Amino acid sequence: MAGDALWERVRAVARSMGITDMAVADAGAWEADDFVREITPKIERPSSIMQGARSVIVIGMPVQRTILATSPSTFYSEHNKTVGITEDIVAQRVVMELHIEGYAAISVSRDGYQWNEELRRQMASFFSHRHAAYLAGMGTFGMNNMLLTEKNGPRVRLTSVITTAELPFGKPMEKQLCTKCMRCVNECPEGATASELYPNGITKKRRCLDRATILRDNAISPCARCTFVCPVGADAADPLPTDEAVANIRRYGSLP
Ligand code: SF4
Ligand code: SF4
Repeated sequence: MAGDALWERVRAVARSMGITDMAVADAGAWEADDFVREITPKIERPSSIMQGARSVIVIGMPVQRTILATSPSTFYSEHNKTVGITEDIVAQRVVMELHIEGYAAISVSRDGYQWNEELRRQMASFFSHRHAAYLAGMGTFGMNNMLLTEKNGPRVRLTSVITTAELPFGKPMEKQLCTKCMRCVNECPEGATASELYPNGITKKRRCLDRATILRDNAISPCARCTFVCPVGADAADPLPTDEAVANIRRYGSLP
C-alpha cells in the first residue's frame, strides 16, 4: 500500500484514537523551503535523523483551554502531561501501522530534551515539531514563537513520525494567523516574549526557562500564559472557569 491509500489507512488509525489534526510534510522541504532551511541545521533535518526519509507525519492534539485558564496550576500541569503522553502513544501506533505496510518509520517524541536543565544547556530540541507542522500546512508562527492553528491557536501539542513512505504532502499556509494583537507580549510575567513575528522576534528562552524551573519545583509547570491569552483559534470561545474557581484551583501547588 502507498500514497493516498496508505495515508487514509494511517489517518483512520489516528482518528480511531481521537486525532483529527494531522498532516504530512515533504522530508525534502527542509532543504527546499528557504525559511526553514536557514533556521534548521542539517543535522536536525529528517533526512539526517533517518536516512531515506520521505515524509514527516505531524500529529497535533489540543490542550483544553478551560483547564489552561487555570495555569500555572497542578490541574493544567497534569493535563499537559496527559496530552503529551497520549499523542506520543498515537505516534507509536502510526509507526506500527507503517511497519506493517513495510516502511521504516520512527516517532520523535513531543519533547526532544530531558528537562529544563538540559534545555538550558542546548536551548533547543534536536528536532522541531513546530517547523514540521508549518511545512505540512497546519498553521503559521505567532509572536509567541508558537505554531498557531485555525482550530486551537497555539493550544496544540505536536509530535512527529518520520517515515520512508511517500504520503500526500501539505504545503505552508499562505495566510498569516497571528493578528499581532500583542496579548501574549503583554501577558508574559518575565518579559520573555518578543514583539516581532517569529523568526524576527525570538522568545528570550532563558527568562521563560527560569520561570518554568520555579514552576516545576512547585509542580505547576508549564506557565503557558502566552498560550492561553492568544485569541486565535475556534477554542478561544470555550467556556472558562470563574475567577473564584481559578483562585481556588491555584491554591494547590501555589508559588512560595
Ligand atoms: S510560557 Fe510564560 S514565561 Fe514563557 S514566554 Fe510564555 S508567558 Fe512568558
Ligand atoms: S496573542 Fe496575538 S500577537 Fe500573540 S501570537 Fe496570538 S495573535 Fe499573535
